Amino acid sequence: PRKRLVIGNWKMHGNQAANASLLDGLCAGFPAVRACDLAVCVPFPYLGQAGASLQGSGISWGAQDVSKHEQGAYTGEVSAAMLADFSCSWVLVGHSERRSIHGESDQLVADKAQAALAAGLTPVVCVGETLEQNEAGTTDEVIARQLAPVLALGAAALEKIVIAYEPVWAIGTGRTATPEQAQQVHAAIRARLDGSVAAKVRILYGGSVKAANAASLFTMPDIDGALVGGAALMAEEFLRIAAA
Ligand code: 13P
Repeated sequence: PRKRLVIGNWKMHGNQAANASLLDGLCAGFPAVRACDLAVCVPFPYLGQAGASLQGSGISWGAQDVSKHEQGAYTGEVSAAMLADFSCSWVLVGHSERRSIHGESDQLVADKAQAALAAGLTPVVCVGETLEQNEAGTTDEVIARQLAPVLALGAAALEKIVIAYEPVWAIGTGRTATPEQAQQVHAAIRARLDGSVAAKVRILYGGSVKAANAASLFTMPDIDGALVGGAALMAEEFLRIAAA
């Protein structure tokens, strides 16, 4: 039995005042939905603020990217050790926006996952096909390619990671994959993992998740939670997803 995990990806949104009210809202409402693991992945400058607000609430926090390097002359980069220093539990790696806008390769994403694991963080490895790839019927092969260097990290690493399936065509578009479509891909992803690892790894769905569609997604056997963008910026809506 895998515990449900719902993670909010704030992307490049927020400011200290808006964050304060969002975080307060989450802390106030979370006791009612404690049956699930809830987390927020915030912009780097707000990690301290998130940690201070969420400390002791039961809600965990993390970042949206990490350097593959341990430390050194890498201007603008943020190391996994720095995230650990801010008590992060999670870090997203390979979000489609990083892959497409910042040209991140499958190997770089796996290297980032490894750096996160080495610092004791849980990497949330994001995969997903574009609309074009979906229409060409190449979803499974695209995801296999994205996952290959991650799978090569080995079973001991894999049982500590989270995978997020986010079809690019469903991100920020209001167009969600149907529960059946998502389930099919989640099952295919799980089938690529070895038996004991496969049973443990949580696979989240992301892409236009809202309170209104979360419950039907969560009834699927291989959908273990959600990675939420826009709807994670509203405390009540985000908590309703967690409780769905
Ligand atoms: P939306 O929920 O806004 O579609 O974003 C999904 C996403 O990219 C989460 O990482």
